[in-house]
Amino acid sequence: MGDSQPSAPLPRRASVAVAVAGVRVGGGAPVVVQSMTNTDTADVAGTARQVAELARAGSELVRITVNTPQAAAAVPRIRERLDMMGVAVPLIGDFHYNGHQLLAAEPGCAEALAKYRVNPGNVGFGKKRDTQFAAIVDIALRHGKPVRIGVNWGSLDQALVARLMDENHARAEPWDAARVAREALIRSALDSAAQAEAQGMGRDCILLSCKVSGVQELIAVYRDLAARCDYALHLGLTEAGMGSKGIVASTAALAVLLQEGIGDTIRISLTPEPGESRTREVIVAQELLQTMGLRAFTPLVTACPGCGRTTSTLFQELALRVQEHVRAKMPEWRIKYDGVENLTLAVMGCVVNGPGESKHADIGISLPGTGETPAAPVFVDGARTVTLRGEHIAEEFVAIVEDYVSRRYAARG
Ligand code: SF4
Repeated sequence: MGDSQPSAPLPRRASVAVAVAGVRVGGGAPVVVQSMTNTDTADVAGTARQVAELARAGSELVRITVNTPQAAAAVPRIRERLDMMGVAVPLIGDFHYNGHQLLAAEPGCAEALAKYRVNPGNVGFGKKRDTQFAAIVDIALRHGKPVRIGVNWGSLDQALVARLMDENHARAEPWDAARVAREALIRSALDSAAQAEAQGMGRDCILLSCKVSGVQELIAVYRDLAARCDYALHLGLTEAGMGSKGIVASTAALAVLLQEGIGDTIRISLTPEPGESRTREVIVAQELLQTMGLRAFTPLVTACPGCGRTTSTLFQELALRVQEHVRAKMPEWRIKYDGVENLTLAVMGCVVNGPGESKHADIGISLPGTGETPAAPVFVDGARTVTLRGEHIAEEFVAIVEDYVSRRYAARG
């Protein structure tokens, strides 16, 4: 079978919907993909360029660091530049330590952002913590912006940890350290949300996250958090890592939670490899949601892994070429054709599973394995239509895909 589709819609945890500019998060809305830039936000042109790149790759929300007065001053200019480029993606400001000062000093920044991310572990220390957190919530209320209360294992409120350790020592049967740590993450988020509500912020303006870098810890924390509140939840490992390790760790953790209906928006926090595009994290997030049958973004190519029956590189090259072609065409197809994201494609390496898998896809091709007759039957809607031969199989197959898309999917009005 191709990309999995659950036999029935997966159950979703009930959560309060939050409107982030035009994007609805939670409340049963499709799981939202978000990403984060790694440019210096004070660099208006560079940041706008990367935000646009992420948005065009499919990021529905983009977070930017706001860490200095220069960065805060740049935010409204980034927003203007994006609007001029026709990129409407909402911007989220990521604040640590000085968010209360930056937002107060730059009302244009406070207005241009669609949401503020606040980390209760470093919003202020000692007595200042509550007043500085309250100042950010006040600004959010004045500008009508939602906030994400984003707790992070690496910057947990140490005063809260110490208090919970004391409480734990007083227990007849003390919890283990992992459970105390989990409780600290969750209490930090819930207590801060309660403070925001006490200041007059609605539940429909609050999202929560409790990020850690371990897969099992993340699953345990979010199961617990999800059971204790109905705020919309942002999911992600805090430092997933590089390359396949980051993808596997993120997928392992998020897939379990998404399968249980937990998570309203996700980010895959990949460390880009040198020279690698930042958009990889968006593509991985989309592919995770799509392969789980939760959303459809781009037709995905089902390809067999290849084996000793495929000794030429033709099969890998064709699979890659078709996937890249489809991904490159999607911005245009999405505008022109209704439902094209549900197209299924198969590129198979030999006769063993090739015809069978190709028939399951909307369009499939079974390439000749080593020693087989050099012919590649093409299947369209389960029926064999043509057999390709010779030097130009790739071009001819791509043309068949193009023709099918234009015939099958209704032009958007
Ligand atoms: S379809 Fe053929 S080439 Fe592909 S993995 Fe199976 S046996 Fe190997």
